[in-house]
Amino acid sequence: MNKKVYIGLGSNLGNKSKNIQNALDFIADIEGVNINKLSSLYLTAPWGRTDQDHFINQVIEIETDLSALKLLYHLQDIEIKLGRQRDGKWGPRIIDLDVLLYGEEIINLEELKVPHPYLLERLFVLIPLAEINSEIQFPDGSKIREVLSRARALKEGNDIIKL
Ligand code: AMP
Repeated sequence: MNKKVYIGLGSNLGNKSKNIQNALDFIADIEGVNINKLSSLYLTAPWGRTDQDHFINQVIEIETDLSALKLLYHLQDIEIKLGRQRDGKWGPRIIDLDVLLYGEEIINLEELKVPHPYLLERLFVLIPLAEINSEIQFPDGSKIREVLSRARALKEGNDIIKL
């Protein structure tokens, strides 16, 4: 178990907190993954397409010896098992699982970009991330506190309430 990895969970369809809990149960069952920490749940306004229901979001810290791609494939399997259907970019979703950070690695593959492209701007991931580890450093050396205050200043898609 050598990499510390942060995963973002989100749901805005059906029983959102149950969807998140089901995803957590599946993640806990992945061989080679240990869940270390869970953030609180956050209620957040939809972004991208605002004509949809609010989201519940959470961030978890895991430890894993899986490669980043293998981990992504497990997460995509879980999304499908929970009944996720594609409804366009940024459409409503039963469950969305994103690899936010994979150790301090930068990954630039077609199907996997880490740090996650939206990570630096979105309070609904930065706030729970800072809640579980206020000392996180990004691969470019920036610190979560600095990134968070920059994102707060931008105020983009950022209505967020801790549950
Ligand atoms: P989404 O609709 O937001 O779930 O996007 C899913 C697509 O994003 C998939 O095709 C993934 O291959 C791709 N993707 C790129 N980077 C990541 C990442 N860090 N975590 C999860 N999915 C990613």
